[in-house]
Amino acid sequence: MLDLRSDTVTRPTPAMRAAMASAEVGDDVFGEDPSVLRLEARLAEILGKEKALFVPSGTMSNQIGVRVHCAPGDELLCETNCHIYQYEQGGFAQLSGVAARPIDGEFGVLRLEQLVGLIRPDNVHHVRTRLVCLENTHNRGGGRVQPIDEVARICDWAHANGLATHLDGARLFNAVIATGVAAHEWARHFDTVSVCFSKGLGAPVGSALAGPRDLIERAHRHRKLFGGGMRQAGVIAAGALYALENHVERLAEDHAKAQRLAEGIRQIDGLELRPPQVDTNLVIYRVDPKLGTAADFAARLKRRGLLISAFGGQLMRAVTHLDLTMQDVDRAVEILRDVSRDTSTAGHDSAPSPYAAAKS
Ligand SMILES: *Cc1c(COP(=O)(O)O)cnc(C)c1O
Repeated sequence: MLDLRSDTVTRPTPAMRAAMASAEVGDDVFGEDPSVLRLEARLAEILGKEKALFVPSGTMSNQIGVRVHCAPGDELLCETNCHIYQYEQGGFAQLSGVAARPIDGEFGVLRLEQLVGLIRPDNVHHVRTRLVCLENTHNRGGGRVQPIDEVARICDWAHANGLATHLDGARLFNAVIATGVAAHEWARHFDTVSVCFSKGLGAPVGSALAGPRDLIERAHRHRKLFGGGMRQAGVIAAGALYALENHVERLAEDHAKAQRLAEGIRQIDGLELRPPQVDTNLVIYRVDPKLGTAADFAARLKRRGLLISAFGGQLMRAVTHLDLTMQDVDRAVEILRDVSRDTSTAGHDSAPSPYAAAKS
């Protein structure tokens, strides 16, 4: 099977497994796991933040991020298709009593002008506008990079108006490699930054939240509350640290594979890239209804040995990653071309909720 469903499907490499197997460990709830501490210190350094906190997932990292900035009755501003709003069960409401005000971006990209005027007046009728969340690269936006100038404008405006800022940087390192803008340059505009080691970086588990010392100390309490206190977590932290040291530069290869895939898709009648250009490692395309729904199309690809996520309605998302070669991508394009030519079975089958697998 060629698996292009997500960059989370990668397996740890032999060298990563070796680093994990030999990791020094201790009880991290006692703050005694040297591998976790090393990972946190290294990430803080890379992002130019005082401190970082290792957590099991990007969802937890984001939700702790919301929690350290907001209290019940507060509101956050975010892009409508962002992960925090779409794929975390409204955790901000369930866990922190926070409301969200979504704003439609262009393939996930927001402009400052769309936010100006949204801060609610101080009045007993209203929630208190407190936080701006941005996502970079943007998952449902097809891996688009939110341009650094716009990030700076939005965050400067937020801070000047007493709002906090949080970056969902699950794929921040893809933005770093795509633009040449260093991680600390992106991160310095935000109070807190979440990154994932388990996406393009290829680690089996883990994310982290970075920020100023006082906020990360509060985050530490919330991690325990949310059930994220881990014991000999150095085994997984060592995989994450290995990924951080060895798998960032290589994201360029994933981007090249995504360009090749996009080039192939452009030539296929009935498939249309959304957005038309590909910035990083995510390739979203629309399936013409003459080829059936995205779920139908995904099921037919699967029978030919190609896994791609249906992304709701007519959209599909293909993702390039560490465990795919350029030859695999060429093979994927061939299968896409063959299946799109063979429209005879279009619309006659549906996959078991592939939408569920499309979120990561
Ligand atoms: C994957 C992802 C997350 C977090 O996902 P987990 O599966 O909880 O680790 C957060 N934001 C974005 C943009 C993501 O793609």
